[in-house]
Amino acid sequence: MNILNHVVDLCVLGAGAAGLMAGAEAARRGRTVVLLDHGPRVGRKVLISGGGRCNLTNVRISAEHYLSDNPHFCKSALAGLGTADLLERFTSRGLEFVDEDRGKLFCRQGAGAVAKVLEDSCREAGADIRLSRPVTGLKRFSSAEGGEARFVVDTPRETLACRSVLVALGGPAWPGAGASSRGLDLARELGLPVIPPRPALVPLTMGANWPFAELAGIALPVRITCGQASFQEALLFTHRGLSGPAALQVSAHAVPGQDQMGREVVVDLLPGTDLAALLADTKDRKVLLKNFLARLLPQRLAQLAMEHLLPPGLGARRVGEIGAKDLRLAAQALSAWTLAPSGTEGWAKAEVTAGGVDTRPLSSRTMECKAIPGLYFAGEVLDVTGQLGGYNLHWALASGLACGRAV
Ligand SMILES: Cc1cc2nc3c(=O)[nH]c(=O)nc-3n(C[C@H](O)[C@H](O)[C@H](O)COP(=O)(O)OP(=O)(O)OC[C@H]3O[C@@H](n4cnc5c(N)ncnc54)[C@H](O)[C@@H]3O)c2cc1C
Repeated sequence: MNILNHVVDLCVLGAGAAGLMAGAEAARRGRTVVLLDHGPRVGRKVLISGGGRCNLTNVRISAEHYLSDNPHFCKSALAGLGTADLLERFTSRGLEFVDEDRGKLFCRQGAGAVAKVLEDSCREAGADIRLSRPVTGLKRFSSAEGGEARFVVDTPRETLACRSVLVALGGPAWPGAGASSRGLDLARELGLPVIPPRPALVPLTMGANWPFAELAGIALPVRITCGQASFQEALLFTHRGLSGPAALQVSAHAVPGQDQMGREVVVDLLPGTDLAALLADTKDRKVLLKNFLARLLPQRLAQLAMEHLLPPGLGARRVGEIGAKDLRLAAQALSAWTLAPSGTEGWAKAEVTAGGVDTRPLSSRTMECKAIPGLYFAGEVLDVTGQLGGYNLHWALASGLACGRAV
C-alpha cells in the first residue's frame, strides 16, 4: 500500500494527557487524527496521579508556578485554558472537583474517571487511538517526496504519513507508568536543542549515615527553602532522606543531575513560631530545653534534633539557666536547619521530568516548531515543569489544547 494515499492530518505520538487533549480538539475541528502509544491503555500517568485521586488543576494557575529556561513561554497556552474552562470540560460530564489543600483541585470520582473523560472525548470526536504501538521512527519528507505529507511515523505495526505530528511522549520520569526518553531522542534527531532532563518532584536522599533515618514515617508541617524557591508544606522523613510535598517541591530547584545535588536546602521545623521569643518569654523557667521542644515537635524528632542540631548538652539544661545567646542558637538551629542532599530517588520515583525540549524554537501560541512546519510538542516532553499541586496535568492539557486548536 502506498502510504501517501492515506495521509493523516495529525499523528499524535503518546496518548497521555497532552496527546489525548490535542487529539480530541483536532478531531473535533474535523482533522483526521491517529494517536499512537506503546502502552496497553491510554493515560497511565493520569491513572496514578494524585495517589489515584488526580489533582487535575489548581485555582492559582499562572506562570510563576512553572520552572523553565524560557519562563514566559507557558503563559499563552495557560491563558488559553483557565482553571474554570478546564474544569467545565469534566464537570459537564458529571465529574466533581474538591479543593483539598489551598487550591489543589482533586477529582471526587478518582483518576480513572478523569482518564475516561479524556479518552471518550477523543474517541467521540473521531480520533483513532492505537495502543501497543512503540514509536520507532519519525522522519521528515522533503516536499518533493511527500507531497502534502510532511512526516512519516514508524511503529512495528504500521508506517503512517501525516501532515502534522505532535510529540507528546512525556519524559523519563516514572518509567513504571510507561514513561520513556523517546520524545527527547526524537527532538534531538530532528535537530532541536534539549535542556538536560533531571528527575523532579522526587524524594531527596541524604547519603549513608542519615542520622534521622529512624524517624521514617514521621511527617510535620515545615517551611522549606532552596535558593529563591520557598514552600510551606508537609515534610516526611524516610529511611534514606526526605519526602512529602515539601521535599518534592524543592527537588526541582535543588538538583542539577540525577546523582548530584546542586544546592543546600534550608528547613524551618517550626514555621510561624518565633522559638527565640517563646523561650525568652516562657514562665516555665525550670523546664528542660528538650522537654520544651518536645511540646512543639514530634517527640522523637525533638530528641534527635537535640543530639544532632543543637550544641552538645544544651537539651539537658533548664531553659531559665541557658544564656540568651545559646537560646538564640537553639532557635536558629531549628528554624534554619541546613541540609546538603546527596541526590534523589531518581527517575523511578520522580513524578515529573524537569528540563526537556527547549521551548525557544517553538511558538508559544501553537507549540509548533518555527523552523519545521507541522512539528508540534506538548506536555512534559517540553522544558516546562510545574510545581506540585495540579500544575503539571494542567500544563499537559493546556499545551495539548493549544496544538489541537492550531493544526
Ligand atoms: C505518581 C505520579 C503522580 C502524579 N500526580 C499528579 C497530580 O496529581 N497532578 C498533576 O498535575 N500531575 C501529576 N503528575 C504528573 C503528570 O501525571 C504528568 O506531568 C502528565 O501526565 C504528563 O502528561 P504528558 O501527556 O505530557 O506525558 P505522559 O502522561 O507521560 O504521556 C506520554 C505517553 O507516551 C507514551 N510513550 C512513551 N514512550 C513511548 C514510545 N516510545 N512509543 C509510544 N508511546 C510512548 C506513554 O505510554 C504515555 O502514555 C504525577 C506523576 C506521577 C508519576
